[in-house]
Amino acid sequence: MNYVISKKTFPIGNEWLCDGVPCRILSVTESTIIVLPMNGSKKSIPKEVFDIEFTECLSDDTYVYAPRYPDGRVSIHEFDIKPISIVPLKNIFKNHPCYPLIEKAEQDAYHSKGNIHCIKIADYRKFKSGEEKATTLERIGDPVFNRQRRHCPPVSSNWTRADFEACSSFPAPIGIRAEDFALPSEQNEILRELLTQIFSCVNAPDLPVELQTHYGITIHKNSHKCDWCGELIDIHGLDQSYCATVHSVNFCHRDPKIGTKAGNVYIGHCSCNREQGGYSETERIDQIIRLARSNPELMERLKNGIF
Ligand SMILES: [Zn+2]
Repeated sequence: MNYVISKKTFPIGNEWLCDGVPCRILSVTESTIIVLPMNGSKKSIPKEVFDIEFTECLSDDTYVYAPRYPDGRVSIHEFDIKPISIVPLKNIFKNHPCYPLIEKAEQDAYHSKGNIHCIKIADYRKFKSGEEKATTLERIGDPVFNRQRRHCPPVSSNWTRADFEACSSFPAPIGIRAEDFALPSEQNEILRELLTQIFSCVNAPDLPVELQTHYGITIHKNSHKCDWCGELIDIHGLDQSYCATVHSVNFCHRDPKIGTKAGNVYIGHCSCNREQGGYSETERIDQIIRLARSNPELMERLKNGIF
């Protein structure tokens, strides 16, 4: 047996081990099994806990089979992918106006959004020990973690409160929002895309060639544009009061519903992002086409690409 999977979420020390996450077995002794969860650091599990809380996770040369993940499987190489460090950039650009963008790129690439309703580990232990009863609390816990790695299992938006209360992990969280989900390889790709855009903005500092090689990216200076208005993005538009001015910059999503996924996020203007609203680019185009159908002049311009 090379891989196991936890049957429910439970705390180990001050960290959660999440339900349904495949774990690689690193070592086995009579009393302890050391596992590496796909979404976290290695953990030491007492044998009596291991026997109750884990079950075998099927695997072959390419995949581990984990039903809570998209397509019910995860490529084995995702276990070995490390996040890209922005420390070299922090050291060089700490005082440059682009720095908050680099930090936000890192945050968005690797971490799911917050959730204040998620139970804390200390409160979970009180609840499990009977110190705190569910009836004394209006609403205990939530299925979604408060900021976690983006390769926790996604929780379907169809998941109801009743489903959560009936599951074996309750009141512990069981995953992250579906739009926050991304495997480690995709997270690195998102960071690379965003770093490329940041350093391709007007007034961005030079990214030394050795760092471009290190990150596997190529910078074309003064080339990055906002897709909505077509204007070049100026790093000086990043105002201290975030999104307070017309041309401050923001992370825009081509389809807001699918979130920060590779190819779906770009650095654009706040005002342009507001104009797009909660609609995807595809939905906006569909609206334009519908309008043009009842307006021959507009349809002609659309066909000829004249605006
Ligand atoms: Zn714009």
